[in-house]
Amino acid sequence: MNRRYQEPRLVLFSGAVQSACGMAQSAVGPFYCPGDQRVYIDLDFLAQMQLQLGAPGDFAAAYVIAHEVGHHVQNQLGVLGRVQELRSRVAEAEGNALQVRVELQADCLAGMWARRAQDARQILEDGDIEEGLAAAAAVGDDRLQGRARGHVQPDSFTHGSSEQRVRWFRTGLQSGQLEACDTFRPARP
Ligand SMILES: [Zn+2]
Repeated sequence: MNRRYQEPRLVLFSGAVQSACGMAQSAVGPFYCPGDQRVYIDLDFLAQMQLQLGAPGDFAAAYVIAHEVGHHVQNQLGVLGRVQELRSRVAEAEGNALQVRVELQADCLAGMWARRAQDARQILEDGDIEEGLAAAAAVGDDRLQGRARGHVQPDSFTHGSSEQRVRWFRTGLQSGQLEACDTFRPARP
């Protein structure tokens, strides 16, 4: 797009961490803070994902990091700011639905990264794509809510279902194109 890309900083933490977005506990999981343009990766979450959520492998971790860097890209493209502004004016369920589109786009951008990195540097080993897809499925709201509460409540989803997350990661992976990652266009993302 002929725009200048500013790289994010990576912060690894365990337990709790202080960021420009406030104090975060490990329970929050990995996150991106637009205020300081840092990606915060919770090592406890990564361990839990590998051991308990059924998403083992190095590429599962790569997917998590790439998803958060995807939020950094969205920040630079102005997507995060626009959605935040919109969310302040709509009801909670509608706000959640907007947030789902943000998250699915970050998944798509993670897939795009995997595709571009593979084309440029042949990073992928056998089974990596499956690991990434398993990780995307493991962190779907329906899967996580089902584990935590025994039932799911789609209105409260903020990241999308396992099916949606896998599908958008795959879309980015197969296309390698930003235009394919417009999760705001379809009536149902
Ligand atoms: Zn996210």
